[in-house]
Amino acid sequence: MDVQEFRAAARAWLAANMPRVDPDNPPNYQIDDTAVWQRSRELQRRIHDGGFAGICFPAEYGGLGLTREYQRSFDDESAGYELPYPLNVPSLAICCATLLDVGSEAQKREHISAALRGEEILCQLLSEPGAGSDLASVTTRAELKDGNWVINGAKIWSTAVFAADYGLCLTRTDWTEPKHQGLTMFLVKIDAPGVTVRRIVDINGHAEFCEVFLDNVVLSPDAMVGELNNGWTVASTQLGHERRAMGGGSEFASGVEEFPDSNRNIDLVALARALGTTADPATRAGIGRLYARWAVHDTLIPHVMGRMATGELPAASASLIRLFVAETEHLANDVAVGLAGPGVVVGGAHDSAEERALAHNLLARQIISIGGGTTEMARNVISERVLNMPREFAADRGVPFNEVRSNRSS
Ligand SMILES: Cc1cc2nc3c(=O)[nH]c(=O)nc-3n(C[C@H](O)[C@H](O)[C@H](O)COP(=O)(O)OP(=O)(O)OC[C@H]3O[C@@H](n4cnc5c(N)ncnc54)[C@H](O)[C@@H]3O)c2cc1C
Repeated sequence: MDVQEFRAAARAWLAANMPRVDPDNPPNYQIDDTAVWQRSRELQRRIHDGGFAGICFPAEYGGLGLTREYQRSFDDESAGYELPYPLNVPSLAICCATLLDVGSEAQKREHISAALRGEEILCQLLSEPGAGSDLASVTTRAELKDGNWVINGAKIWSTAVFAADYGLCLTRTDWTEPKHQGLTMFLVKIDAPGVTVRRIVDINGHAEFCEVFLDNVVLSPDAMVGELNNGWTVASTQLGHERRAMGGGSEFASGVEEFPDSNRNIDLVALARALGTTADPATRAGIGRLYARWAVHDTLIPHVMGRMATGELPAASASLIRLFVAETEHLANDVAVGLAGPGVVVGGAHDSAEERALAHNLLARQIISIGGGTTEMARNVISERVLNMPREFAADRGVPFNEVRSNRSS
């Protein structure tokens, strides 16, 4: 089936099988709501049964084995339908994409296909209180005891673990090696004995992040992802997929996410009209600057992804789009808040749905520049691995991890 035939088939199937978005009553995509995850599983199952799940995942793991052009045609046609967006990141576009690259044959067959059927959700157990940007400093330990791995430690900022079935968990397995060399990745079952999940309430009242405590969690050897002490390779693969996904450039994400309250969906021209400020030069300049930026955004992402696919740009170039998306979202937030003024904070005279959405987006402003690695780290990656500038100094480079000076107890 060529792309045009596929597009036509998708159009017909979507019209017959998927719920259309009612603009007056848009779907709930708030991921701290467990009902949203259940709904996503159901919708994913529907898409799978209809033959449109995992368009770019290989057929042997439950996908269709088609190219990005097919996924793009599905994305175009699915605009305006309710889709299981929450499953894109991190489950499909980061965790399953990573398993596809570095997982065992059994892990790919089991987990990717289960995720594509809507039966399994995967999450990321990477960051720790002392290991975020410097992820290779994780101190969650995995020790081999009687043929099984025993995991102890704590993870933080893990998105939606409460809704997940498995997590990709980065651990330290050799403390005598330099920090990048003694790490191993495991697939941890979230409801395994010894796993405790606590939700964190954010400043905007949402609770999608979790703390995860791992106390003597026993894993069989087949839970290892990649090779022993080669977890940094797995983590790097995962971070690469994360940057692409955060930049909107993953072929493993399905549909163009249309969150009704996103900055992009807030009609700033309509808001300016309602506020009577369309003649104000600063308003006009701000909106114009933002619209120009969105236009560059829409061109830059396929441009960079295309050059990465042909090898003209290195894989690290995903950081270019990751950075640009964050900066554009910040600009959108700043322009919108400047436009709406104090009403965003204290409830404006117009007290519109847009103003309330802007208030929420303002509180969540920093998320986009931290999740998926911070924008400062993206700049480091671009300077070192795209522009080939010298690496930044690291006092612990090449030093056995157990000799690195720190304030940790282990
Ligand atoms: C929306 C969102 C979702 C997330 N989901 C997950 C998840 O599912 N799983 C998970 O494991 N984690 C997740 N995280 C955590 C995220 O990966 C970390 O917050 C991030 O990597 C930053 O780490 P940190 O919070 O420890 O900050 P730190 O690393 O302590 O950084 C603090 C500040 O210092 C700057 N900084 C640090 N090092 C450098 C440097 N070398 N050069 C220049 N500046 C530097 C940073 O840019 C930042 O501004 C999520 C975070 C967010 C916001």
